[in-house]
Amino acid sequence: MPQYRTQAINLKSYNLGEADKIIVMYSKDHGIIKCVAKGVKKAKSSLGGRMQSFMANNLLLAKGRNLDIVCQAENIESFHKLKTDYDKLSYAFYCAELINVFGTENDSNSSRIYDILFETFKNISIFDNSEECMWTVLRFKLKLAEYLGYAVELDNCARCNRAEKKFRTYHFFCPETGGVICSECFLKSHKTFEIDKRHIKLFRDALCYDFPFETEYTDKNLLFSSFNILKEFISQRSDKKLKTAEMIEFSCQNSKCNYG
Ligand SMILES: [Zn+2]
Repeated sequence: MPQYRTQAINLKSYNLGEADKIIVMYSKDHGIIKCVAKGVKKAKSSLGGRMQSFMANNLLLAKGRNLDIVCQAENIESFHKLKTDYDKLSYAFYCAELINVFGTENDSNSSRIYDILFETFKNISIFDNSEECMWTVLRFKLKLAEYLGYAVELDNCARCNRAEKKFRTYHFFCPETGGVICSECFLKSHKTFEIDKRHIKLFRDALCYDFPFETEYTDKNLLFSSFNILKEFISQRSDKKLKTAEMIEFSCQNSKCNYG
């Protein structure tokens, strides 16, 4: 059987018979891969704990007829602090589900998607407070959307493509349309969120920086409302209901949604 090497992060697994598991991974070179880890449920497995969820490994895989087979795994990063905290773990499950839903085999942008997933797990693992973790997941959603070809529109009205004239900045975000919308299009749109210029600045900065460097980025209301807006934006782009999104629910007065 031909063999190949790649780096991959384990997303989830299924039991296969008494001793084996099917592992779903996101790989740097081939996007989503599903492979068999033989004997991994045995106490003396040579793959050890490297096939657990949220491990990043250098892999040697053998091409199979249906599923590839893990021949060797060398751990690169275990993101071990992810597993010590319920909130961190919830964020990790949420990001893994997004990758599972939107990632495909042989994604053309697999290298960039892998890198942002790796960065996100690493930062959730090492950051100390929930604001920093939330920033990381916001950045992940914005970047993932961009790499999948759904970049959030922040410059011109996502519906009519014109600049906002009336207020000179945008006050509404339409998840379905894909970004900020002008005051005229707001009247024609069904479901919108109220935003202000702080949201737009936060989205721009989160696309550029992996750390919330401004003191206003510790404002929970701003972070929660931004998080919820992007959660709706992402779920609009999939037919599947995202199960883990419900794990991360916030009550937030500033996340005001209009049904017009
Ligand atoms: Zn418009």
